Order: sequence, then structure tokens, then C-alpha cells
Amino acid sequence: MTEDTLPHSITEMLLAAVDPERLLRTATALVEVPSPTRSAGAAADRLAAILGEDGFKVERPVADWPESPAVVTRLDSGRPGRTLQFDGHLDTVHLPFAPPRFEQGVLHGSGASDMKGGIAAFVEALRVLRETGALSGGGILLTAHDHHEGPWGDGRQVRALIDAGYTGDGVLLPEYLGDRLPLAGRGSGIFEITISREEPPVHEVLRPEGLPDVLGTGVELAARFSRWHRDLEQQRDPYAGNDSVFIGKFHSGEIYNQSPRECRLNGIRRWVTPGSGEQVEADFHRRLQDLARETRTRISADYLFMAEAFRIDPADPLVSALQSAHTAAAGKPLPLGGKPFVDDGNAFCNRAGIPALTHGPLAHGAHTVSETVTLDELVRVARVYALTAAAYC
Ligand SMILES: [Zn+2]
Repeated sequence: MTEDTLPHSITEMLLAAVDPERLLRTATALVEVPSPTRSAGAAADRLAAILGEDGFKVERPVADWPESPAVVTRLDSGRPGRTLQFDGHLDTVHLPFAPPRFEQGVLHGSGASDMKGGIAAFVEALRVLRETGALSGGGILLTAHDHHEGPWGDGRQVRALIDAGYTGDGVLLPEYLGDRLPLAGRGSGIFEITISREEPPVHEVLRPEGLPDVLGTGVELAARFSRWHRDLEQQRDPYAGNDSVFIGKFHSGEIYNQSPRECRLNGIRRWVTPGSGEQVEADFHRRLQDLARETRTRISADYLFMAEAFRIDPADPLVSALQSAHTAAAGKPLPLGGKPFVDDGNAFCNRAGIPALTHGPLAHGAHTVSETVTLDELVRVARVYALTAAAYC
């Protein structure tokens, strides 16, 4: 069904069917179970139990992480149509656990904003779609997993789910981004560069003729990267921003008058062009090898590929479905924009080849010990998810 044909009566029925108390109970039950990344098994068991009690058939694919098998459930209309996937991560960053507490309309606790509140809204949307029979075709695939938050997790479980075919025709992700519709995001790679020489450390007045200067090479590298960054800024995407290279850490030397053997630089390279990640990395290493040759130093780099860039076709039916849903639930469409962070949507776009839209509650305190989300926001996104599904499937 397209946005233009979602009847007013169905919209009104879905808006009214979201039950704030039931939604809050679900969110609280998920926050209650600690689930630091790589140890989200008990929270996955809790989600599976909640879905099971509601009569949904739950699958637990191991998906490359036996400690906490993923949670999968489906709602099938029994008629042809698209499948909308709801995907979320159950793991939280490694910080002291904050238990759930509901005060003056606000849910506090670990994962309240990132992203157990959003997963609870998915569950509520699933219930509402089943109770109302509002899906005219297709169905919903709900997936939840561990291994998301870095540096503890490496994304293996979502990749394994994708590779095993647990994908819909489009996917929503409930990360805490609710003020724009993100149509693009940058790829990124984190690097640590080591510039070294073989000769032992030596007093600066005793340096032999022609001793390679690792610290000076580091300074030259920083200067070259700064000029390179100005070139990279020309590579622009209207929503994602521009290519960049950034150095955030520079370390060399032991004392003021000793010529050091090593210089280390850490930073991040970002790019806007989908599919260019390999070329970006090769170009990065080539620049280092050019400098090593010129300075007679050894330069090595650990380069950690974080995520590929993505772009979503503004004409994709998932975009219009989310916009019509947001208009119905919040009174206006979302402004188009970029996704400032990397989330599992990058993997869905590139690895699964499906459009992935991040839309979640306007929540606060992600990656701190004071996460909060209002019940009003959870209700709003549960309505948006149910309406998006009715328009899209
Ligand atoms: Zn998250």
C-alpha cells in the first residue's frame, strides 16, 4: 500500500492502538537486564520471553555469537507485499549498570535511549499491527542482536544475520535520531600510524650523519594530511557532508635532547562515496609509503575499517512510508538530512543492499550512565513504526 492510499480510518486506528503502559512495561523489562556488549544473552532471553508470552513465534539463530543467540520473530499478513524489518541491538556500552526508574514521564536506566526503549517501541508496533490487522500485505521481520557497541563488539552478529538472509525489503533502526530523515552517511576507517627507524635512541648532539628523523617525519605527515584534508573537502554529499582526514593524537619522544626512534599518530578517515572504502584505504597506504621513501623511515599503519558509506534513494518507498507515518504521528514530515554516526544501517545498505532508515526516540545520555527517554517519545516512535509498516508493506 502506498502513502497516498493509507485510509484515514487505519491511521486513526493505529495511533489509538499504541498502549503506553504496555510499552513502558516492555521497555522497563528490557532495561532491567544488564547486557554489556558481548554479554547480552540474558536480555535476549528476556525479549524472547516477552514475545513468546505475547504469542509470537521466536527463533534464536546463533548468528556467530553463541553467548547470546539473536532474537527473531515475524508477523505475516498472509498476503503478498513487502517485508519491513525492525532491527535493533540489545547490548549496551560497558559502563556501570543503572537500573530502570520511571519518574515524571521519563524512563531512566542503562539502554533506555541506546536502544532498549526503541526495541520496546518495535515490539509495541508489532502487537498493534497484529491486533488491528492493519497490514494489507507483506509482513514484519523483527531482529535483535548483540555485538554492536565498539570497541567491545565488532558487528559480527548483525553481519551473520544478514548473511543468513534475515533481512526484509527495507529496515528501520531505532537509534536516538529523531529530528531528520537520514538519507546518507559517511564511511570511516580508524588508523594508527607508526613511523620508526632501526638505529638506537641517541643524544641529539651524537646523532650520526643522515639519521632518519621520525618526529620530523610525523610533523611532515601531519602537514600533508592537513593539505590533503582541504582537497578531500571538495568531495561532498548534500546530506552526509564531505570526505575528511583527521589526526587526533600525536606521540613521540622520551626526553628533550634524545632523538627518538618512533612516532605514532592516530586519527580517522571518512568518505561520502558508497563502495569506495577499499580504494580509500589503498590510497591512504600509498601516501604513507611515498613519505617513508622520501624520509628513509619505516611507516606502518593499522587501519581499522569501521563502515562503508551509504546513500538512500529519496524516491524509495520506505522514505515516503516513513514520511507519511511521521506526518500522521507528529504533524509534519522530517527534514531530509545525514546520519552523523555509524550504526547497523550502514551494514544493511551495503551488505544486504536494502534501504536502512534510522529513526528513533529523541532520547538523551547515550553512552553515559544517565540515559533517559520520555514515554511520550516512545509512544510517538511506536506509532511511527506501525504507520510506516502499514504504508510500506
Ligand atoms: Zn545504539
